[in-house]
Amino acid sequence: MDVTSLQSVAILGSTGSIGQSTLDVIARHPDRYRVHMLSANTSADALFRQCKQFQPRYAVMQNEAAAEQLVQKLRADNSDTQVLHGDNALCECVSANDVDVAVAAIVGAAGLSSTLAAASSGKRVILANKEALVMSGSLLMQKASESGALIMPTDSEHNAIFQCIADHSLNKKEAGIEKILLTGSGGPLRNCSPEALSVVTPQQALKHPNWSMGPKISIDSATLMNKGLEVIEACTLFSLELDDIEVLIHPESVIHSMVQYRDGSVLAQLGRPDMRTPIAHALAWPERIESGVEPLNFTEMAGLHFEAPDLKRFPCLRLAFEAQRTGGTAPTVLNAANEIAVDAFLNESVSFLQLAQLIEDTLSYAKISPAVDLTTIIEADRDARILAKTKLDKLLV
Ligand code: NAD
Ligand code: MG
Repeated sequence: MDVTSLQSVAILGSTGSIGQSTLDVIARHPDRYRVHMLSANTSADALFRQCKQFQPRYAVMQNEAAAEQLVQKLRADNSDTQVLHGDNALCECVSANDVDVAVAAIVGAAGLSSTLAAASSGKRVILANKEALVMSGSLLMQKASESGALIMPTDSEHNAIFQCIADHSLNKKEAGIEKILLTGSGGPLRNCSPEALSVVTPQQALKHPNWSMGPKISIDSATLMNKGLEVIEACTLFSLELDDIEVLIHPESVIHSMVQYRDGSVLAQLGRPDMRTPIAHALAWPERIESGVEPLNFTEMAGLHFEAPDLKRFPCLRLAFEAQRTGGTAPTVLNAANEIAVDAFLNESVSFLQLAQLIEDTLSYAKISPAVDLTTIIEADRDARILAKTKLDKLLV
């Protein structure tokens, strides 16, 4: 490959789990990718180490004081990397003409504006930040279609579904798709009794059996809210209705999701639980590049198991179905309440069971409107956070 085909990559949230996996893949292909921008919230040390290795043109910190620390470190190192800070800088940097690929890997609603900026400016968007898609759904897809952006599903399940569909220009009926089988491991608490769930600690909930991920998505996996957000994500990415999707618990995480066709065929994508596979696929599609992930060894496999999810023990999945059925800003409210509830659980203000209760209470009191534009979505997010905090205060007295 000659130097003119080098792709310039901007990573939103490069110090996180997805960000690091992306850099691991990119480092294997210096002939294909060069890093244009790296970014982080507050971790100046981690971003400094990444800047030293990848020498991006820009490094953007969300936090101003952390940006100043990074400036000092880079200056002492004679680096050419320019440091910026704040959300506006992040959006400007990712939208710049000299960026080809944007990796949306910030966690939570904090990634909404920069993910939208990438989708609005015609990039190939490696989309991991599912919360942005849950909040802004059709708006994000519309921006992408107007700008010519290529949204590459990178959440492992959605990347698997993408890989199991041959022609992406066809709608569900034309393609003969009967349903999507969205798989999930069931998380670390899959076999816990209701009594055991009532005393689960953050440490227990953070211990995912198969995947190594950031803290927020790890808790979402334990409550099954992650699967709920993924159902909403799949509806948006593949223009599906809720009833087109069946959630299937598959504890081994070997199959990453399946598509069932009219003629009885079921196509699945298999692989090790390592995000470098979907990231490499999303970066290079329709080509295939090495990701550093070992192939599966089928003779070592003890078996593949499947079961239906238990919505009674894991009500967050039911709440996500309900929010998607309600539509409008309900998924935004669900997401905002979940972010508040996960934080409260991680800092031990609420129990595992109260986490779901807090989201349910917020959803039942929130005003839901049609999600017509970004202002409406941002207001719904802000109001839901205020409401969730009020409900949280009531739980604490
Ligand atoms: P993480 O917590 O490990 O990393 C988050 C990144 O976002 C960090 O670089 C952090 O500095 C940055 N960040 C956090 N708050 C910010 C803010 N306010 N402003 C700017 N930057 C901020 O998270 P992760 O596990 O890498 O997940 C990232 C996203 O990818 C999430 O939306 C998650 O749901 C999704 N995802 C993750 C995995 C996984 O395996 N980790 C798999 C599928 C999807
Ligand atoms: Mg996933």
